[in-house]
Amino acid sequence: MDIKKLKTAHREVAEMAECKEIFWTNPKSGNEKDLPFNMEDICEAQERLKRFAPYIAKAFPETEPSGGIIESELNEIPGMKKELEKMCGSFGGRLFLKCDSHLPVSGSIKARGGIYEVLKFAEKVAMEAGMLKETDDYSILTEPRFRELFGRYSVAVGSTGNLGLSIGIISAKLGFKVTVHMSADARQWKKDLLRSKGVMVVEYPDDYQKAVAEGRKEAAADPFCHFVDDEASQDLFLGYSVAALRIGKQFEKLGITVDEEHPLFVYIPCGVGGAPGGVAFGLKEVYGENAHIFFAEPTHAPCMTMSMITGLKNEIAVSDIGLDGRTEADGLAVGRASVLVSDVMETLLDGCYTIEDKRLYPFLSRLADTENIFIEPSSCASFPGPSLVAADTKWLEAKGLADKMKNASHILWATGGSMVPEDEMKSYYERGK
Ligand SMILES: *Cc1c(COP(=O)(O)O)cnc(C)c1O
Repeated sequence: MDIKKLKTAHREVAEMAECKEIFWTNPKSGNEKDLPFNMEDICEAQERLKRFAPYIAKAFPETEPSGGIIESELNEIPGMKKELEKMCGSFGGRLFLKCDSHLPVSGSIKARGGIYEVLKFAEKVAMEAGMLKETDDYSILTEPRFRELFGRYSVAVGSTGNLGLSIGIISAKLGFKVTVHMSADARQWKKDLLRSKGVMVVEYPDDYQKAVAEGRKEAAADPFCHFVDDEASQDLFLGYSVAALRIGKQFEKLGITVDEEHPLFVYIPCGVGGAPGGVAFGLKEVYGENAHIFFAEPTHAPCMTMSMITGLKNEIAVSDIGLDGRTEADGLAVGRASVLVSDVMETLLDGCYTIEDKRLYPFLSRLADTENIFIEPSSCASFPGPSLVAADTKWLEAKGLADKMKNASHILWATGGSMVPEDEMKSYYERGK
């Protein structure tokens, strides 16, 4: 790979190599392209989650109020909007926070895709054993005979932390044996919590890619093991996409209109790409070109931004331009983007930007002060987004959006936080002050 050439061809690549923050808009956004999934796939995932709702409600009583549907609130955050405009620059429209940071069961966006994939696997195993039909009340899955059945199988995953939490919690609950291969970036409390639930945690001194590769290798040798492949899984991706079907009612309640005159802007922190990619794909299926999606990454691990700008997908890693991939935004410490997601996002993504680690903490504290919502540092990576978009008047004009920004709705997608131990959260908060 000729890195010098890449740097000359793309100014942003040269800047990223120096750990500078960048903002990039995608020239291919809106082009026609065949995609590997469609609306039917999203609806199928949604239907499966509905079948499982009676089980989820019984196995995780905190989901009873929502009937076993794992969903988060969408909140307007006007106090934070004022702060954000002071910190990063003004922008028109209203500001909202999608609180996947507080999703039940595992406290991060991984409670969408991760749990979905394990449920789908459990359904297949139970149906093949002749013990479950689609028309059954799935709460029977809490019965000991199912735990016995699932106990013959194992689930494995490689993770920077939150995916491990969600896969570990749901797999252990169903009765699967479960192994989580954790990268060096993973926080200690996440490993401790998993072990307390009977999950086998294997630690690696290397990065996330290595943890995934080891997990994949071990699982391949075992026909009774299902490996959740964060770099390539279609099930994970579709599990995330269901969020887009659910958000319509929340828009109605808040009086959010999405149409040509009222554009929607969504800003999501990105690691390997599965979670933000799935959500983005779903939103584009539902709201088409009136939804504009931006991904945010740490300056030390901007793998998807590099994938998108160079078009090299997973053939380029952050180490190729001399970056170490180390970041305090542990959920985003990924050196190489998913090829599946790079492919799907090529024409769907509106742009990417990067942020320095030290800027995450002040956002965290201000959000706590103004809205009393506590989220983890990774989750704050998206916060400069609305100001960055508003400042790019050239792009807004080219897209015909310049005079519509006063009607815009901006959603910061908070991706994790509610499971962070109190003392840990307190130290993040104090750092931000
Ligand atoms: C996993 C994660 C992301 C990004 O998801 P990817 O699928 O890795 O792109 C963002 N924020 C948090 C807190 C996460 O745990």
